[in-house]
Order: sequence, then C-alpha cells, then structure tokens
Amino acid sequence: MNNCGVKRVMFKAIPLILQGRVIHDFSYRLPRRKCPHMGLVNMTPAGQCTHLCSYCYARGYRWSVHPEKTNEVRYYTNIAQKLDEELSQMSLCPPLYLSATTDVFQPVDEIIQSTLATTKTMMRFRVAFHIVTRSKLVRKILEIPGFTSYPYFFLEMSVETIDDEKRRILSPNSTPIKDRIETLRLFASRGFYTVMRIDPVIFGYSNNQNEIMQLLEEASKIGVKHIITSTTRFDAQGMQALRDRLSKEGMEKEFQRIKESYAREEGWLKVPRKKREEFHLNLKAETERLGMTYSVCIELDKSFDSTSISNCEGSPNSYMMMKTKEGFFKPVCNADCIRSCPNRKAPPCGAPQLEVQYPYELKTLQSRARSSIQVELCP
Ligand code: SF4
Ligand code: SF4
Repeated sequence: MNNCGVKRVMFKAIPLILQGRVIHDFSYRLPRRKCPHMGLVNMTPAGQCTHLCSYCYARGYRWSVHPEKTNEVRYYTNIAQKLDEELSQMSLCPPLYLSATTDVFQPVDEIIQSTLATTKTMMRFRVAFHIVTRSKLVRKILEIPGFTSYPYFFLEMSVETIDDEKRRILSPNSTPIKDRIETLRLFASRGFYTVMRIDPVIFGYSNNQNEIMQLLEEASKIGVKHIITSTTRFDAQGMQALRDRLSKEGMEKEFQRIKESYAREEGWLKVPRKKREEFHLNLKAETERLGMTYSVCIELDKSFDSTSISNCEGSPNSYMMMKTKEGFFKPVCNADCIRSCPNRKAPPCGAPQLEVQYPYELKTLQSRARSSIQVELCP
C-alpha cells in the first residue's frame, strides 16, 4: 500500500526537469475553437499516466512513451516552482487546468506530492483552477489547509460508464466507478461545484441508453451540476489500441461493433454527424430535465450546449484573473471570450486581443501596463 491507502501499482517514478513554460493554452484556433482560454498545466509528459486507458488520445501522440513498456513513469519535479515564477510575471491568468494530457492524481506518490505542492502555489496566488481526474486520490487535496473554503476551484470527474467491468477493460488501473461517484458526492457535499464527464462514450460499446441514464440520475442525486460528454474520435493508431485491448479479453465481436459505429470524417474516425447530433440532443434534454446543465466536448458547436452556461465547463467560478497591486489575483470574467465577454467594446481585462487570440500569446498575459488597473469587477 502507498501512503494514500491504495494498492501500489508497480511503476518506478523517474524525475525530470521541465525546461519550457508550464502554462499554455489549447492549440485549437478560431473559427473552430470552442474552448475558452485556459492555462493548461501538466505534471508529467504526455502519455505518462498509469491508468493506461485504451482510448487515451495523449497515449496516441507519436512522442508518447507508455509506462507499461518500461514500468516507469516520468514526472516533472519543478512544476510548483516554475508556476510560482510564471505567475509572478503575469498580470492576467486564465483558469488553470490540471491536466489535459495525464491524470495528476494517478497512484504514484511523487506525482501526487508534486500536484499538492502545485495546488498550494495556485492557492497562494489565488488563481482559479480545476482538476480533471479519474482518481479518488484527488481527495488528498481536501487535506491542504484552507482548501475547503477556497472559492476558485471546481472538480471534474470522468465517469465514462456506470459498468465497472467495462471500466476495467477500457481503463484498467483507474479508480473503480463507485469510488469515483463517491468522490464526486464528497466534493459536492463540501460545497464545491462538480462536473461529471461522461467521456468518452464509445459507440458500439458504452453508449447503452439505460446505462447512461443511470449515470445521469446518479449524478443529479449526488449534487453534480454539469455534464460534459463526447463520443470521441480515433485515428488508425487509436482504433488499433482499442482493438488490442479488447482482443486480449477475447472481445473481437465487441470491437467489430465499435468499428462499424465509426466512419471517416475529416481524416478521423467519428460517430457519423447525424447520429452524434441525435445522441447529444437527447442527452442534453435528459440532463436538463434532471436539473443539470450540459455541454459537448469539442465535437459539436455551442448550439448543442445548454444555453444557460457562460463557458463550456459550466462552472460559475472559472475565471480570467487579474493581478492586484498586492500581488495576488482577482476575477475579471469567465475567460470565455467566444461565448460571453462582459463588454466587447471595452473588455475589462484590458486585453481586447484575447477575443481573437487563440491560442493566447504569453506577452498578452504579461503586459505591465495593465497591472495598475483596479480590479473590483467581480466579488
Ligand atoms: S486517465 Fe486520462 S491521461 Fe490517463 S491514460 Fe486515461 S485518458 Fe489518458
Ligand atoms: S474581458 Fe472579454 S476579452 Fe477579456 S478575457 Fe474576458 S471575455 Fe475575453
């Protein structure tokens, strides 16, 4: 057992020093961009995740090294320190997002400690951030002094299916489904905004309507506020990774059903558009009926999301922050220039270029002239 109380997965942690920048935006550009400005923060290189999900797009990157090949997992030791340096130089800070490429609470003590140190840095500067995870070990964050009253955090837990056997096959080393749901319940009961990501829904395998409805009902019951889904897309390598995993389980027939559910579109294998639209419209209606809001992760435009949300994460506390004279940050807006700038003629962030600058440039966030602006815009 490790000191987080879960069975240790035998991966040796290999320390690395990150040489480049920590905070970076999604690489997607306008006009197809849907995501708001984000400050992505990675604790490890892409693919260095011991959950070993067979659908993981980050594992599909050409440069990803898979931990199971060497029984080693590489992680950065200097993220908290680099983040401190970068936040000291910034006058605007988009909502920080840990992490879009690996799980920051995978069961490796070194990575968990590094994530907790990074969290303390973010809290010291009072920036907005959220964590996307498949791990119940995110509960460790509740032990940080002052965390339970921190106003600028929300949690996204991926729960790709309610069927734990399907989870075991797709994502063998991740936290069992019932523990993920219990973790969401715990955070919601402590007053945190919580999001369930039913993502990815793999057509031909995990798109059973009854199972998804059970998940939605469970989410609504435990206090989840927002649902994000996607039916994902595969390249040839991703589809092959899924095939390899299912073949090992003797599930060739299931793989054939998945393969037949995806068709080539813009160089990817995707659920055909009409089916995708029907799926999301139906799920949005059910989600809203249960009192939650809904958004589609990237694969359809914002007209398929709930109209009441001000950014695609759904959260009311995902902020673009501006630094005050005291050196910490205060909210300016929800950072979603595409969807809802509070004043397009005179954006209160003082950086109108952010409306079209996707991804943002570092110098836009560092402008010294802005640091004298008084931030009294949001409570
Ligand atoms: S938890 Fe996320 S990053 Fe880790 S293997 Fe699964 S999909 Fe990839
Ligand atoms: S004030 Fe407007 S332009 Fe500036 S970050 Fe917010 S939404 Fe974008």
